[in-house]
Amino acid sequence: MQHAVNRSLFALFLGLLSLSLCGQAALARDTAAATKLQLQAVVDEAYALYKDLDEGANANYIPILETVPSDLFGVVIVTRDGEVFTAGDVGYEFSIQSVAKPFTAALVMSQQGPEAVHEKIGVEPTGLPFNSKLALELLAARSVNPLVNAGAIAAVSLVAAKSEEDRWQQVLDNLAGFAGAELRLLDEVYESEYSSSWSNRAIANLLYNYERLYSDPEEALIVYTKQSSVGITAQQLGVMGATLANGGVNPLTNKRLLPAEHVPELLAVMLTAGFYDESGIWSYTAGLPAKTGVGGGIVAVVPGELAIAAFSPRLNEAGNSVRSMKAIQHISAQLGTSIFGAN
Ligand code: GLN
Repeated sequence: MQHAVNRSLFALFLGLLSLSLCGQAALARDTAAATKLQLQAVVDEAYALYKDLDEGANANYIPILETVPSDLFGVVIVTRDGEVFTAGDVGYEFSIQSVAKPFTAALVMSQQGPEAVHEKIGVEPTGLPFNSKLALELLAARSVNPLVNAGAIAAVSLVAAKSEEDRWQQVLDNLAGFAGAELRLLDEVYESEYSSSWSNRAIANLLYNYERLYSDPEEALIVYTKQSSVGITAQQLGVMGATLANGGVNPLTNKRLLPAEHVPELLAVMLTAGFYDESGIWSYTAGLPAKTGVGGGIVAVVPGELAIAAFSPRLNEAGNSVRSMKAIQHISAQLGTSIFGAN
């Protein structure tokens, strides 16, 4: 008798448990659906808010960048499991420029460990523009960090390569691995940039002079300029960022691009130097590790969660895309994703 009571109580308990588990599953589904709606809504909102903003101007020190239609604007969120939320021109192929820099630093970290970046390049913010030669003369580390031109040219020179062709192929394959897509060189951008790269050539030669460049200077300059001229879309930038948000594994291909334990080191440099002399105000307003490029692209990473990327060619004085910055700041504020806490 007692056993029968126990058995029926147990059956009741199981029934209640399965009801509550079903309820929880439904709740989880509702929450996931609500989160998706919220992510799409905030992307749409950021796009609508800033699409008519026409402050700033295309980069013109690389002549061809001035010819990119200034009104293009795309905004995207890619989550760590590869879900994509977009608005605007997220499929337009533009030159990646400096947004490539952290990903090549990641390649150096993967090949030689984070000490190589620390010791052979540096990890201090310069507080100076991206192409500063003054920083290189003033600061003992010379190349200073892998996200300004000097440190990025040094990073390219550190890739373990047998030849210029091999160096370029490794850099390109690594960017493609992060994007989860085949990428190509935009020849016209490369020609335009290489034929006007006197300032970067000076930087490469100065670094070599100070023994802070680890290959032939012209080879490093050529591969660095090709890296800058790789075609990318805002959506692909989002996937590159999502790979960092996902601990170094590309959510589309499941391929590991960076050991998980080095993702925080890379994100730290992106937070302190990703916006050059605007890294402080960026950190203050968006609170996210990010990287900008003079092609108009920006990618920001919410560690462990998602990436927010945007593209728009008009830049401010520091060479950062005006609409892309505003869109990402808005999304970060709305979602409360600053790494320092929601404000
Ligand atoms: N390739 C560009 C340069 O070296 C990259 C600059 C940038 O995007 N900030 O000047």
